[in-house]
Amino acid sequence: MLLSPIVNMWAGYISLFIPYRGRGLESWEQEIARRVGVQAPTRVKLIIVRALPFPNLSWIRQLAIQRGMSRSGPIGLTLGHGIFIREGCYSVRLLSHECRHVYQYELAGSVRKFLDRYIAEVLAYGYQDAPLEIDARAHEIANVLNGGGMDFFGASSRQKIPESQESEDA
Ligand SMILES: [Zn+2]
Repeated sequence: MLLSPIVNMWAGYISLFIPYRGRGLESWEQEIARRVGVQAPTRVKLIIVRALPFPNLSWIRQLAIQRGMSRSGPIGLTLGHGIFIREGCYSVRLLSHECRHVYQYELAGSVRKFLDRYIAEVLAYGYQDAPLEIDARAHEIANVLNGGGMDFFGASSRQKIPESQESEDA
């Protein structure tokens, strides 16, 4: 399959710029990152963009849509410790979801290893049912409460979430 090498090359290129863009997490955001397992929250960079970086090849886009990604494209995308969020889409829930992907990258050991697995899963199961996506959704945090506590969704309460956003993230 040609997909993995192309996506990995693309990811390597995008990753070069991540340390110089965006901002570090605020301390309360670092707490969210920590709660979903991130080992190095201070390394995370949050980059708000008008359009998410996505391999600019129509057949990759077609394939992504075929596998369950929405036509409007993802609203969040994580590459290693770099989290890209589409302008206007930032939320605690999305941040926690993407932070769980950061944790998954840390666990995988490299961007390449993570992406190989992620792509294989999306091709085999589709976007919604890819185990890495299921895991990220299961760790979403709905809200940061006033007292500093956090309101976890967790997998079992998933059906209670109002599905306002049909866009996905990767
Ligand atoms: Zn995701």
